[in-house]
Amino acid sequence: MDVAFTDRHGGVSAPPYDSLDLSRSRPGRDEELRANMSLLAREFGVDGFVVMRQVHGADVAVVDSLDVDLPVCDALVTDTPGVALCVGVGDCAPVVLADVDQGVVGVAHAGRPGVVAGVVPAVIDVMRSRGAQTIQAWIGPHVCGGCYEVPEPMRAGVAALVPAAYACTTWGTPSIDIGAAVTAQLQAAGCLVSDVSRACTRESDDFFSYRRDGDWSGRAAGIVVRRAAPHG
Ligand SMILES: [Zn+2]
Repeated sequence: MDVAFTDRHGGVSAPPYDSLDLSRSRPGRDEELRANMSLLAREFGVDGFVVMRQVHGADVAVVDSLDVDLPVCDALVTDTPGVALCVGVGDCAPVVLADVDQGVVGVAHAGRPGVVAGVVPAVIDVMRSRGAQTIQAWIGPHVCGGCYEVPEPMRAGVAALVPAAYACTTWGTPSIDIGAAVTAQLQAAGCLVSDVSRACTRESDDFFSYRRDGDWSGRAAGIVVRRAAPHG
């Protein structure tokens, strides 16, 4: 079982999407996407990835092959060795989950709408229905609570559902702490949580950030694969 989160380095895309841009909705840049995805697959030691057409919801797709039609959802689960899962993000939190002993893995796309929709509890429910028991979760790079400014009613609405989301920007206005919110949801569902984001995506030039760069921002990924069990 292996987990990774990408930063913006090591791909082929030209500025402003330099260089490992994994966006799936960039007109005229299919070649770059294919090249970047295959670089990532080679580096990760897999044949390819199952990706999603993400819609900021809470639907979960269970997949057992790399050869699936693009699922419209925000979380994936598999227990099939070699079927690598990929979640794409701009500033939202990429979440990777695994029960190493039971061999069940998952990914989820958790931004503000995903937190409200409950994509994290949803993916955990599906993993448990496939036999997962002790689930570890890793949260990758995302925009921090000090940067994610929102209107006050929006903060109030999210915090009413997930109190840990309540935050203020470094300049003193209402904000949402997406990492704290996702951590709270994971812990409430009994997961062991590691936030492995090295920096805030908006503050660090090592990451793409929709909040910082708008339409000029690339997309990163969280990936996971269950490796084939050794024979004998
Ligand atoms: Zn920040």
